[in-house]
Amino acid sequence: MTAERIGAVIDALPLPVLLIGPDERVRAANSMVDSILGPELIGKHHITALRQPAIIAAIAETSRTQDPRVARYTGRHGPKDTVYRVSVAAAEGDILLTFEDQTAAEEAGQMRRDFVANVSHELRTPLTALLGFIETLSGAAKEDPVARDRFLGIMAHEANRMTRLVDDLMSLSRVEEDERVRPREHVDLSALLSSVIKGLEPQVNAAGVTVTLDLVTSDEMVQGDAGQLVQVFTNLVENAIKYGASGEEVTVQLLPRAMNQRLRCDAIQIKVTDKGDGIAEHHIARLTERFYRVDNHRSREVGGTGLGLAIVKHIINRHRGRLLIESEEGRGTQVSVFLPVGPVA
Ligand code: ADP
Repeated sequence: MTAERIGAVIDALPLPVLLIGPDERVRAANSMVDSILGPELIGKHHITALRQPAIIAAIAETSRTQDPRVARYTGRHGPKDTVYRVSVAAAEGDILLTFEDQTAAEEAGQMRRDFVANVSHELRTPLTALLGFIETLSGAAKEDPVARDRFLGIMAHEANRMTRLVDDLMSLSRVEEDERVRPREHVDLSALLSSVIKGLEPQVNAAGVTVTLDLVTSDEMVQGDAGQLVQVFTNLVENAIKYGASGEEVTVQLLPRAMNQRLRCDAIQIKVTDKGDGIAEHHIARLTERFYRVDNHRSREVGGTGLGLAIVKHIINRHRGRLLIESEEGRGTQVSVFLPVGPVA
């Protein structure tokens, strides 16, 4: 095959491909390879073109044995390193390299490992405390009823914390599972918000705040999953109570439908406002990450698992809606949920 024909064939392939000739120099490369190795590769010695020992060793092995090999190659041209799985194969005296981008798969693997490490850490802390108290209760505090009652109280608190964490983990996995399934129920938002606030009465009274429901509009129906929307607004109002209690007032507003530029359709806005401590700007974008908390100690103290907003985000995605968190330190936080009510343009 002429060099031109080889060039045309590999240019038509959907993957970055490079061909090394018997003289060990690059014989052909398609344009997708340019973004990995830079331009003007033809005629260059493959060692100069590739420069990474793992792949050079794989090429040497394949040309010696004619057996295919696989090597890892890290592309350093973009703003972020890209990881490729490179297949090295003998092709009638030439060596053919095919690059497959593995970055997304590696990132997903890393996220999974981080998630498991986080869950283990979150469970280990209360478990260590429980084991410590069990030991104390079966030894030193065995005959001391006052200490026993106090320790049992702490043990119940730690066990509740683990239960909340396991509940949230299960909820997260369920929500992730049906994220692609469109919700079909017709939900009356004013009735739903009233029942959420009613359900939170014990927390509201304990925190000494007032929660006001401001129905700027009513009779608004959306297509949604009522159970999941209850979860969203319970979480948001609970956060406003937990982190905004110092401001004493929490408002839940149901605002009339309006065109939402981001969603490119009409949407209803539900806005939960507190007058608490607020959140520093640099934290805001990360709040929906699993286990991300502004203040670990404070979140644990008020019974947080660090998963609430991650669950909220998934549910809103399922509803093709949008979550907007606005906050100013010292002034309070406004969390808005936009739910689409019109056809997407
Ligand atoms: P948690 O279970 O810790 O409450 P969330 O995912 O619900 O987890 O929230 C993540 C973090 O966001 C919280 O730990 C808290 O630091 C911050 N946060 C959430 N809502 C508010 C709010 N209304 N005011 C201040 N900080 C908030």
